[in-house]
Amino acid sequence: MADFGGDLDAFRTDARAWLEANFPHALKTEAGRRAGGGDARRWRALMADKGWGAPTWPSAYGGGGLSRGEARALAEEMAQVGAYNPIGGLGIMSIGPTILELGTEDQKTRHLPGIARGEKEWCQGYSEPGAGSDLASLQTRCEDKGDHYLVNGQKIWTSVANLADWCFCLVRTDPAAKKHEGISCLLIDMKSPGVETRPIQLINGDSPFCETFFTDVKARKDDIVGPLNGGWTIAKRLLQFERDAIATGLGGGTLTGPASAMGVEDYARSYIGLDDRGRLADADYRGRLARHRMENQAFQLTLRRAANESKSNQGPSNAAAMMKYAGAQIAQDRAELIVEALGQQGLGWEGGGFEDQELAQVRGWLRTKANSIEGGSSEINLNVVSKRVLGLPDPK
Ligand SMILES: Cc1cc2nc3c(=O)[nH]c(=O)nc-3n(C[C@H](O)[C@H](O)[C@H](O)COP(=O)(O)OP(=O)(O)OC[C@H]3O[C@@H](n4cnc5c(N)ncnc54)[C@H](O)[C@@H]3O)c2cc1C
Repeated sequence: MADFGGDLDAFRTDARAWLEANFPHALKTEAGRRAGGGDARRWRALMADKGWGAPTWPSAYGGGGLSRGEARALAEEMAQVGAYNPIGGLGIMSIGPTILELGTEDQKTRHLPGIARGEKEWCQGYSEPGAGSDLASLQTRCEDKGDHYLVNGQKIWTSVANLADWCFCLVRTDPAAKKHEGISCLLIDMKSPGVETRPIQLINGDSPFCETFFTDVKARKDDIVGPLNGGWTIAKRLLQFERDAIATGLGGGTLTGPASAMGVEDYARSYIGLDDRGRLADADYRGRLARHRMENQAFQLTLRRAANESKSNQGPSNAAAMMKYAGAQIAQDRAELIVEALGQQGLGWEGGGFEDQELAQVRGWLRTKANSIEGGSSEINLNVVSKRVLGLPDPK
């Protein structure tokens, strides 16, 4: 990539030209993207070579070396030409930025390029059957065996664990220490003997997450991120990255359900219809849709302002909890409005009498139920906002 010396317009022009020359035409349609195939593989390889899967990471670790301003311009240019970033997942969203900020040089060199190129899938081993919102109750044991660690325990709700190459895992390294003090953040190779995953079905029919069992699993001593027994601080920082990324995704509508060329207004127009003044025929629905649009617009502008203001590249703060909370609510509202507009056509699960898009919207609506749970529930995010953003005392 040429060095534009901070000239955003020149960067924009160059990026647009590259995207127009390289983004495969076939991937501009939903059907093309779903089909995947050679075009999708070629696009992934091109983006990986450019480092634009992780645009702001240093090029030494496989990233694009872009400033936040350039990365934002790139995202806008991609939207303009109908392109998308094919590289993502928890590697890009959460553990990558955490290693970049807090990992050792060796961890950066070993783990980041595979994430930036989209070659290594990561999963998050935080939740356990007895530790969700109260995450520090986690019990998965990690013992020092001299030249390696030995891990025993169970995780749950581990997204993509059955497909993942690596897991960033919270483990108890000092059972005698106070609850928050004996925890470490350990990177575990999911191909290690003793790792077992069992997929669980989500309400919308997908099986995106698993129960994950670790039985005498060996891990490398140099794969603890941050200090031994200092994992709670790492865990919280990682959650800020995760919540920030989820909020941004929810804002773009990408985590809310099926990709669709039709927005909520299109569904409302075609299923509810218009009155003789060209307005949506249902006045009550019209009012709620207008409120949703205003809230969404304010949310988008706030996301953009937050990105503009963080010129120092310090990354997200506790305010990410606020944005994640708001993003989840807006995504759920949007899905509710779409299913309501569909009327009887929004009652289908499978079978005849329903268009594919209608069935997909119903499953998408069910998927949004998870938005206020994943990455920390809405109630927990409100707790973070009250304590860490507003500085309110703990309720007695
Ligand atoms: C789609 C999806 C993907 C997920 N992926 C992962 C993953 O990859 N890795 C992973 O580790 N986990 C994952 N999770 C788990 C997720 O992080 C937990 O479900 C979440 O943190 C809540 O924990 P819990 O389910 O144990 O609920 P609980 O903690 O039992 O909470 C139950 C209810 O009580 C409320 N509550 C609990 N404590 C408080 C409190 N102090 N104040 C107010 N209300 C409270 C909660 O808000 C919630 O409504 C995923 C979850 C979903 C839905």
